[in-house]
Amino acid sequence: MKNTIIQVRDLHKKYGDFEAVKGISFEVYEGEIFGLLGPNGAGKSTTLEIIETLREKTSGEVYVNGINLDESPNEIKKIIGVQLQTSGYYPGLNLTELIVLFAGLYNETIEPLELLDKVNLRDKAKAKYKELSGGQKQRFSIATTLINRPRIIFLDEPTTGLDPQARRNLWDLIRNIRNQGTTVIITTHYMDEAEVLCDRVAIVDSGNVIAINTPDKLIDDLVASGFEKPREVKQANLEDVFIHLTGKHLREE
Ligand code: ADP
Repeated sequence: MKNTIIQVRDLHKKYGDFEAVKGISFEVYEGEIFGLLGPNGAGKSTTLEIIETLREKTSGEVYVNGINLDESPNEIKKIIGVQLQTSGYYPGLNLTELIVLFAGLYNETIEPLELLDKVNLRDKAKAKYKELSGGQKQRFSIATTLINRPRIIFLDEPTTGLDPQARRNLWDLIRNIRNQGTTVIITTHYMDEAEVLCDRVAIVDSGNVIAINTPDKLIDDLVASGFEKPREVKQANLEDVFIHLTGKHLREE
């Protein structure tokens, strides 16, 4: 039996007269990597920010680990990890100092090097955020979600703008975090990424969930409906060529 860790029921959000979220319902199971997919403006961020207690909903019910959002938002805050705005990364502080600062905000004591180890950034402990490569910045951002030892982390397009090696490196990191028992909710515009990384995905469009299942099942259903690719699929794609030629190892450090 899968345990439900997040339950969203008939969630609505209006901005003035405009209804951005039109009655969304879904569940996230404990220990899965759950993808929220959809075009820009679909309502993904609004939905996630409501669950994260950062935005007021118009109506509907949200439970996180059995905690009712309407009753105990602060209890929810304690068990979730959210990426901090990069504007909070004081330019004068190095990664170790930033972690100590953020841990203080959460009232947690944490060993910065242990946390940096988890995201493979120990050797950057004395570096400033702005000195990191794109992949390292994303890894640090993910580290900040782990400071309060959350049950669930929310990752908003963590691989956008990264090169193929750094993207794969981040997939491994996200899988590791999940394998250690943390549930992961992720948004991405890369469908290849969602296909290999997510256990289940919800596809959101114009404020509605229009599909929810494992990537495999969604693909099989499409094929079963008679869908055919317009041209023959090759045994490799350009990304395979790129990785084959340049290797899988990270270039940034
Ligand atoms: P997504 O994350 O899927 O791109 P969003 O949740 O950011 O979608 O936005 C959904 C819709 O709500 C969009 O049309 C967006 O313009 C609108 N929207 C988002 N935030 C606000 C806001 N604070 N005020 C008014 N409209 C907003």
